[in-house]
Amino acid sequence: MGIVEDVGPGVTQLRKGDRVVMPFTISCGDCMFCTRQLFAACETTNPGRGTILNRKDIRPGAGLFGYSHLYGGYPGGQAEFVRVPKANVGPLLIPDSSLRDEQVLFLSDILPTGYQAAVNAEVGPGSTVAIVGAGPVGLMAAACRRMLGAEQIFMIDHHQYRLDFAAATYGVVPINFDQVDDPAAYIIDATGHHGVDASIDAVGFEAKGSTTETVLTTLKLEGSSGAALRQAIAATRRVNAASVVPAVSAGQLPP
Ligand SMILES: [Zn+2]
Repeated sequence: MGIVEDVGPGVTQLRKGDRVVMPFTISCGDCMFCTRQLFAACETTNPGRGTILNRKDIRPGAGLFGYSHLYGGYPGGQAEFVRVPKANVGPLLIPDSSLRDEQVLFLSDILPTGYQAAVNAEVGPGSTVAIVGAGPVGLMAAACRRMLGAEQIFMIDHHQYRLDFAAATYGVVPINFDQVDDPAAYIIDATGHHGVDASIDAVGFEAKGSTTETVLTTLKLEGSSGAALRQAIAATRRVNAASVVPAVSAGQLPP
């Protein structure tokens, strides 16, 4: 979130002095993925191999600000100043001067990611949803699910202050897994043994699972613990959806 200090000669969509929010993703706007509005999957802005571990020749996803050379080696992310490539594509112009910085700040990352998770869960008004993880993305997913009409939202975490905030702000049913041994079983009981319509894994890399999973995650042999995902799937009724948010999803809101 900031003010455009200067623009290069190829920039036509912004002017010096504009207020903008920058998404973490750097997207070209022209490739196969960008033309489908899958900007985080842009295949032209990360010149390296990205996080691809196999030897297949698939292209990596978009470059990201401040995420090391795995994501293109672009400085920035949470820097005071950042040089923005492809500046005709990514920046969101904030035209309304009455919006404070704090009101639009989350458009850069966690709000679109939470929104995308909520939309991917594919449920409408009156639905029940479980969200595993009450971090920023989980909270934004709860806000978006509430906006999209969810009737009951279960939220699983073990940080009580986060659960308390989510309960007070978004009306979720908090489940602290330090106190409730099997959150999925709790949710199944609470939904007449149907399970929820959809669940969202919003934990990402820090999932607290079994000792084996913790070791695998620490040694980077596994991307993250599967505990959250298993809980999400277990709590979901048959023929419905579990929506998984990658640790670096960086979705973008539709125009
Ligand atoms: Zn692209």
